[in-house]
Amino acid sequence: MPDAEQIIEVAVPRPLHAVYDYHVPAGTPTPAVGARVRVPFGRSETVGICTAHKHSSTHNKLKSISQILDAEAMVPPDLMALAHWMNDYYHHPLGEVLATLLPAAARRGAACQIDAPDYWTIAAPFANARAPAQTALYAYIQKHAICSGSDLVAAGHTRASLRALVKVGAIARTEPTTPAGDESPPVATSAQQAAIDAVTSQLNSFNVSLLQGVTGSGKTEVYLRVMAPILARQQQVLVLVPEIALTPQTLRRFQRRYGQVGMLHSNLTDHERLQTWLKSAAGQMPIIIGTRSAVFTPFSNLGLIIVDEEHDSSYKQQEGLRYSARDLTAKRAQQLNIPLVLGSATPSLESLYNVDRGRYRKLTLSQRAAGAQMPSYHLIDMRGQQHTDGLSIPLEHVIRRHLEKSGQVLIFLNRRGFAPALLCAACGWQAQCSDCDARLTLHRHPTQLMCHHCGLRFPVPDVCESCGQHSLMPVGMGTQRTEAGLQRLFADVPVYRIDRDSARSNRQLEERFARINTGAPAIMVGTQMLAKGHHFPNVTLVAILNADAGFLSPDFRAPERTAQLIIQVAGRAGRAERPGEVWIQSYQPDNPTLVRLIEDGYPGFAELELAQRVQFGLPPAQPMALIRAESGVPDEAVLLLNQLKSQLAPLQPLGPVPAPLARQANRARYQLMLVAPSRSILHGHLRQLQPPKVPHTLRCLRLYCCSTPD
Ligand code: ADP
Ligand code: ZN
Ligand code: ZN
Repeated sequence: MPDAEQIIEVAVPRPLHAVYDYHVPAGTPTPAVGARVRVPFGRSETVGICTAHKHSSTHNKLKSISQILDAEAMVPPDLMALAHWMNDYYHHPLGEVLATLLPAAARRGAACQIDAPDYWTIAAPFANARAPAQTALYAYIQKHAICSGSDLVAAGHTRASLRALVKVGAIARTEPTTPAGDESPPVATSAQQAAIDAVTSQLNSFNVSLLQGVTGSGKTEVYLRVMAPILARQQQVLVLVPEIALTPQTLRRFQRRYGQVGMLHSNLTDHERLQTWLKSAAGQMPIIIGTRSAVFTPFSNLGLIIVDEEHDSSYKQQEGLRYSARDLTAKRAQQLNIPLVLGSATPSLESLYNVDRGRYRKLTLSQRAAGAQMPSYHLIDMRGQQHTDGLSIPLEHVIRRHLEKSGQVLIFLNRRGFAPALLCAACGWQAQCSDCDARLTLHRHPTQLMCHHCGLRFPVPDVCESCGQHSLMPVGMGTQRTEAGLQRLFADVPVYRIDRDSARSNRQLEERFARINTGAPAIMVGTQMLAKGHHFPNVTLVAILNADAGFLSPDFRAPERTAQLIIQVAGRAGRAERPGEVWIQSYQPDNPTLVRLIEDGYPGFAELELAQRVQFGLPPAQPMALIRAESGVPDEAVLLLNQLKSQLAPLQPLGPVPAPLARQANRARYQLMLVAPSRSILHGHLRQLQPPKVPHTLRCLRLYCCSTPD
């Protein structure tokens, strides 16, 4: 029997619902809970996290750990608690939860040390006539007082000269100077002040404020103000922003006010990400701004969490461990007993439901801050209308009127490519993806058919594959087609298309926005990339080409997403002195949801939609879970779900039914849907599920549509 203190439990990053006991060899210190250990696993080794110390094990013949990678916990206790909670709430293996939490470099076992600062300054006099390169570098550093290693190299000096000067003691490392934030804030409006006071009066305990403010109402200014007292008492602040909104402008706004800001997003190298992680854990980063996964950043003294655009779908991780970063911020804030601020012009129904139930406090900003007016809304009835590539004649006139008054025009269409279908006019055949149950989208430049679900590309056939006739035609509108139509109708005005195909990098996108913001008349046509976070002061007209699809989808969440998108896009209109107009084309201009949205704005829409969710017992009124099985062999998926269904009989699951995209990348997708009167009942049943023996061809995913953590 091994020594009592020398057994630890290790969570390994494998899709198994188990942690494993390992033996710690005599003479080796016991690793801390939260420390990384290298362990033999199967026929190889892996990096796991020590999750507990044990006195005994029910297994005999334990393997020994190979190496302890951290002297102290890499995952601090509060994140460890969050991981355990996620393991239970999302029914996902602990080892994989921990692997999701850790930066990639740490997951691979990289050493976790904060780099010495790569900043240099003069330490002693230096003169050496036989070393001109060193002399030049010395003079350069002398001139700048402090400079970074990368600046030196950029200025043509070498690391070799740097090392030589360090060796003779002429220069030394130093801390970087933090540019002090020096922006003086504007005078808060009375609505902003009321919101600021409400938040700052309760900074010492867990509470959630939902800041509902129309686009341009100065929510960001409220975030900046409520951070001040937290930073003043040396606590840290975490700010989450949607993927698309983490632009240099956003970042500069926080830097101008508060100086140093740590940034976490998907374009960092693994090393940079790890460094920011470690510095935050060490308390060296007062502010972290990041996208979804920044919710897992460790802090030494976190005092406040802010989530901007809390409704945004980029907070949901859709693959592997499916989680909602917004929901996790609520859990973290609760565990740390600190305040949380959720902000949006179009809050999620989940958050609004929590306001109704008295769990969250709602703070409202109903006016634009800098005095700009809200746009006016207009509907165009498309029934029986002629149109050019999706643009009706009334819309054409409106566009012309705005361009003539030197306004800019933004046209929104949530479909990239040229046309969403290629159809045979003779027999009705449609081009389909070979691997998915989905139509192919026709693209131009280069001309090809593309599957937007799996990414496969196909050449465009000359003749119909079914009847052999030369009668294929593109059906429906994509951004490329509308762009071509606009270029024909408005030949003397530049047309900028903004979607994932036209702007591949952030830099390209920024360049294009800079050109647009020189202010000359221009037309932008694009997808939801246009909807978020950007400020276009000269846009006076926003047109939404087709509002209908989202309100007719079988997905019960589609109307909510569509309404949010419409309001967010509309919010780009008239942000500066000139008032804006929003024109919406619809084949269903009497649709009650659309009418309510236009007449009463988002709050009216949300009230109606939430009442319907309550009536039908859908989330957030009742918690829901989906169990989804994917397999190359459809029968296997159905069989597995039927086995689970019999175990869940008291909840009367719906299914198995084909998932919304029934076949994707050659895998059949089926699902079982569960609704329960309370989350504890739902989770009670899920926890007791006995996983049937799963063939290895099957990937069983569980997707939780639960609203808020309890
Ligand atoms: P939101 O985040 O709600 O979209 P912003 O914080 O970006 O709004 O504010 C919109 C514009 O109004 C910005 O240009 C901002 O500088 C300005 N602004 C915000 N608050 C004030 C204020 N109290 N006085 C004057 N201008 C303000
Ligand atoms: Zn045909
Ligand atoms: Zn496909």
